[in-house]
This record gives sequence, C-alpha cells and structure tokens, in this order.
Amino acid sequence: MVSRVIPVESFDLVVFGATGDLAKRKILPGLYRRYVGGQIPEGARIIGAARAEMDDAGFRLLAEAAITEFVDAGKRQGDLVARFLDHLTYVAIDAKGDAGWDRLKVAMRDGVVQAFYFSVAPALFGDLAERLHRFAIATPEARIVVEKPFGRDLETARALNATLASHFTEKQIYRIDHYLGKETVQNLMAVRFANILFEPLWNARHVDHVQITVAETVGVGGRGAYYDKSGAMRDMVQNHMMQLLCLIAMEAPYRFDPDAVRDEKLKVIHALEPVGAEDIVRGQYRATKDAPGYVQDAENPASTTESYVALKVNIANWRWKGTPFYLRTGKKLRARASEIAIVFKEVPHSIFGDAEGWRENVMAIRLQPNEGMTLSVMIKEPGPGGMRLTEVPLDMSFAEALGEDGADIPDAYERLIMDVIRGNQTLFMRGDEVEAAWAWTDPVIAGWEARGDRPKAYDPGSSGPEDALMLLHRDGRRWREIRE
Ligand code: NAP
Repeated sequence: MVSRVIPVESFDLVVFGATGDLAKRKILPGLYRRYVGGQIPEGARIIGAARAEMDDAGFRLLAEAAITEFVDAGKRQGDLVARFLDHLTYVAIDAKGDAGWDRLKVAMRDGVVQAFYFSVAPALFGDLAERLHRFAIATPEARIVVEKPFGRDLETARALNATLASHFTEKQIYRIDHYLGKETVQNLMAVRFANILFEPLWNARHVDHVQITVAETVGVGGRGAYYDKSGAMRDMVQNHMMQLLCLIAMEAPYRFDPDAVRDEKLKVIHALEPVGAEDIVRGQYRATKDAPGYVQDAENPASTTESYVALKVNIANWRWKGTPFYLRTGKKLRARASEIAIVFKEVPHSIFGDAEGWRENVMAIRLQPNEGMTLSVMIKEPGPGGMRLTEVPLDMSFAEALGEDGADIPDAYERLIMDVIRGNQTLFMRGDEVEAAWAWTDPVIAGWEARGDRPKAYDPGSSGPEDALMLLHRDGRRWREIRE
C-alpha cells in the first residue's frame, strides 16, 4: 500500500515548555518522525521556549538527545537528524514575566501558519495567552494548542475557557486529547460511518452492553503528589474515556467536519444519566512486601483519591436506552491494555438447542498495544462429532492490514500536531464539550465526597477491586479479561 502524505504549509511552531517531559518524549520526537515522513517543509521552523537560559545549539543538543532516546535507530540514518535540527531555534521566556517576548515577536514570520503549543503547567495557560496577545505576537489566524488537564471541575474549566476566549477565538484553540489522535479511534469513525454493515446493529436492540477499559501496569510513583489531586475519574474518565464513549455512541454527523462531529459528541454527553452510588466502584492499589502502595506513592497516608474507578453509565436517548456502558480504568493492573468491546445480544432463538461453545458476538477495538479490531463470530467446529460451535475472530490488525506502512502508523501526538498546522479541529475538543463533560463528572465526584466513600484496596497485578466484578455480575455480565 502506498502511503499518501498530505503536504502542509510552511509554519512557525512555538513549543512553550520545550525542555519538559512531554516535549522530550512526544513533541520533538514526533516532529522529527513527521520530518522523516516528508511533512515538515523546508521553510518550517520550530521555536523552543522555556525559562532555562540556552542558545539554539543547546536546544538542538537537547532535541537530539530526545530523538536518540525516543525514535527507532532505523529512522535516524544519514544526516536526517542534523537536517531536522536546522529547523530548531530557542528563546528563553518566562510565561509570568515580560522578558524574552520581544525576541519571540522578532523571530515570528508573516505569511506562514503560526502555532503555539502550550506544553506547560495549566496554571500558565492564561499567562501565555495574555502575553501572546499583549506583545502582539499572535496573528488573528494563529493557533494555540492546549494540553490536558483542562480544568479540574466545571468552574475551573469555564474560567480557563473564558481566559482563552478573551485573547483567541474558538477556531484558534486546539484542546488536545491525545486519545483522539490514535489510529484506532479514528478508525472507529471510519468503520461506523463508511460501512453499512454495522449501523443496523449499533443500538440497544442488538447491543447488550459496551465495555471500555484503559488498564495500566504502572503506578503513580514519581508523580504521586500531582496525581493525588486528580485521581482516575478526573485524569482518565472525564476526558479520554468520555471521548471514546462519545465516538461509539454518537449519531452520524452530516459531514466529517469539525463542528458537525463535535455537535454529535456533545449531544451524547448531554444524554448521560447521573451515576448513582451503586454504579461506581473506586479503588487504590495496596502495598506489597516489595513495592509501596498508592498512599505511599502519593505521599499521603490519608489519601482517599482513587487509582482505579469502574462505572456503569447509562445514555438516555432512543439509540442507547437500556444498553449500559461499563467503564474501568486503573493503575498497577495485570496488563497494559486499552480496548473498547461492543458485546452483542444473544440470538433470539437457538436452533442448535444448548449447543456447546456458544458465545455472544463481540467487536473488540484495541487501542494499545497492537492497535486493531476483531469481530468474533460463531462457526461450526470443524470435523465430525455433530454440531458444536466455536468462536473465530475476524481480525483486522492495522499493522498487518497496512503491510509495511503499518509500522509507520503515526503516534497520536504527531498526527494531532500536523492537524493543527493544517487547521483541522475535528480531533480536538471544543470548549462546550469539555464543560459538558465536567458538568456530568462533578456530581459523580461530589456524590462520593458527600458519602465519605473510601476507595477499596486491590492487589497490584490484579484486575482491580472485587467490588468492580460485582458491578457486572449483578447484571448477569462479566468483564472481559485484561490482557496484552
Ligand atoms: P514538565 O516536565 O514539568 O515541563 C514543564 C516545562 O515548562 C519545562 O520546559 C519548563 O522549563 C517550562 N516552564 C515551567 N515554568 C515556566 C514558566 N514560568 N515560563 C515558561 N516555561 C516554563 O511538564 P510536562 O510533563 O512536559 O507537561 C507539560 C504539559 O503537558 C502539562 O500541562 C501536563 O499536564 C501536560 N501533559 C503531560 C504529559 C506527559 O506525559 N508528560 C501527558 C499529558 C499531558 P523551565 O523550567 O526551564 O521554564
């Protein structure tokens, strides 16, 4: 299969927080990979900005080290890295001070796309927006890219939206949810809306339930103090899992257009029912003799923050009434695996009687590892011995289906940065969407705070707290196994 690379216009991309963890792990290596992919035009410039005093050469060394660490050796041959580094410059700037901004203004060119990536702590987003405006650096067409978390509740998200809106229009604001940049997530839309096969079955009459799992094996060690102020509900459910739920549940937009897609997602969020105490289980991983537990990692012995949460979510609309969406996410679980499973209903009547081996059809959409989709179907077990049924997967691993190009599936960040340069907001969250997601999340959190609910302990390497199993058992269902 021949890859089709869509060219982008020349641009000036300013990365605030260019010396930070995200820039080193994702943004700079991602830009380099796009350079190798032929998408960074010769005139493009990447301007790093942070407080550290450094010259261009120092920043290029930092970027080179990041590329060496995070990009496969096979993509670093010849003078490619050196040629990419020629695109990089650096300006020392304090988001809270006024020094350096004039230099940045001089560095920016007219007539090219301007983008400003705010890869700094959210507390600085307002300062950056205000100074870009005050120093007349950003043009009316300039784009800003805002990292997560976008607020910690409805009130703070509204305040942040208002601050950004006083300097930039909604069309200029790109709120990142990197899950939306994943190949599989976009494929979910292609599979749903470019095939006739699934739509007739995609509703409460045929879908028994949906499971969305984002399981991690790592704990919160290293960033425990930060995580402890957030927890799984704020860190994963309000944003990433909500976006996945929307893409599964939404109606077909009239066009694959940013506002048409986001209008449909917003309707889903508005249709979410409140979650009662009986429909939520929170957990914290416990210590083992070899490893600290959550409260030690969080350096807060009295912490009631959850490192795991499972919820049953109901959507009150014609398509989904009666089909629950079960969401779970956690740290230190048995495997690193993210998947969405659409579990279909039983056949209305089995002509095979109690034939052995019958299982419901499941469409599993895997986000990591090994992005791909599998549809399980029942067939006759081959060979003699009567009618026994067996389940076979119709498999669509993207890496295999795309042949050699499969290995080149761009990382979510690279794809999203290129979308910013192209001016395509489809895979970014709109302000009203983020606020609606918080409006649903806030009462869930307020509910457990009012009840004085404490998270249940679970063993590291397990599937989470026992009570989470009950969330499905009591409905006559069970979670899918968490495995890589
Ligand atoms: P980080 O490692 O702490 O880096 C922060 C960056 O901001 C550094 O380059 C720092 O450099 C710069 N900075 C700090 N104060 C500044 C100021 N007053 N003016 C200008 N620059 C300043 O943080 P990070 O992990 O890269 O995260 C950046 C953003 O991405 C955050 O919003 C975070 O929530 C989000 N995010 C990160 C990840 C991740 O995997 N790391 C994932 C999702 C979202 P100086 O100290 O030299 O100024």
